[in-house]
Amino acid sequence: MIPRTRPQDTDRQGDWRQELRQAITEPEELLQILRLPKSRWLAGARQAARQFSLKVPRSFVTRMTPGDPQDPLLRQVLPLADETYHVDGCHQDPVEDTASTCEPGLIQKYAGRTLMITTGACAIHCRYCFRRHFPYSRSHTGGRNLDRALSAIQVDTSLSEVILSGGDPLMLDDQQLANILSQIDRFPHIERIRIHTRLPVVLPARIDHSFVTILDKAKKTVTLVIHCNHPNEINNEVSLALSMLHNAGIRLYNQSVLLRGVNNHAGTLVQLCKDLFECHVQPYYLHLLDPVQGAAHFDVPEQEAITIYRETKKQLPGYLLPQLVREIPGESAKTAINV
Ligand SMILES: *Cc1c(COP(=O)(O)O)cnc(C)c1O
Ligand code: SF4
Repeated sequence: MIPRTRPQDTDRQGDWRQELRQAITEPEELLQILRLPKSRWLAGARQAARQFSLKVPRSFVTRMTPGDPQDPLLRQVLPLADETYHVDGCHQDPVEDTASTCEPGLIQKYAGRTLMITTGACAIHCRYCFRRHFPYSRSHTGGRNLDRALSAIQVDTSLSEVILSGGDPLMLDDQQLANILSQIDRFPHIERIRIHTRLPVVLPARIDHSFVTILDKAKKTVTLVIHCNHPNEINNEVSLALSMLHNAGIRLYNQSVLLRGVNNHAGTLVQLCKDLFECHVQPYYLHLLDPVQGAAHFDVPEQEAITIYRETKKQLPGYLLPQLVREIPGESAKTAINV
């Protein structure tokens, strides 16, 4: 059961920037805080971090168990030597984002929905990220590219939904977000705005009064899709942040990635879905891992995934069960796995 306290002092404006600056980026410090032996982990972590740096907010680290190298939250952020091995069938751009990019930072794969890479920045670096090699520096909708992307959305009347993604769109400051939302508000054909973000989970201080006010002012229906993989990620602060969003009338969904050593057990997934529900979040997708270079050790083969999913399904009401999907490049939607 997630403790539900009423948010009282919800105005923590600006604090999240400071928390972000204090995020851990040195493998040595992370190992020290968690009392893990440097002799076992440090060399591999440093080597892998050269390709994709370590980044984890301190508040996320406090949810890990010291001394446990298999902690499911630690596994998501600790760089390992495994990432540096070449694995056949893994790619830099596993879902072919580049081929679907119409303007810099604007990706459209599915009818009616376009996705904006609003920034390359994230509050946390998830080792399994399918965009870990994404060329953010030349392909995002920041700076001058923003007008180009918005113009393309304005003239394409087949669109009805704009997805703000990244990176993490909540890494933008409130003013930048308010600007994007208010510009999209002017397009009559756009009905919905969706925000894909991991910040309510990994840096819940981001969800402050000022941010909620911006969402509240948007004329379009705003949906937030958060990203949470394990019940241990949800603490009281996360629960309060999600309550704030819920109380502001924002619909909340969650997507997870099925990850070996993190959540590849029915019991874990069942608990996650129940805890999300207590936080007003509807489980949406459970993704099979995209075959991105550096993340093969997280892979759960499809047959094993189906077994785990069937067991999960037995233990949950239908409305708490996420859809098990994978992304197949070129398909017109995420592909449901036949179970
Ligand atoms: C996954 C994805 C979406 C969203 O798909 P839904 O099934 O609507 O959640 C939209 N655009 C791109 C490029 C995507 O990868
Ligand atoms: S927050 Fe999302 S985009 Fe950022 S590293 Fe994690 S999975 Fe990738």
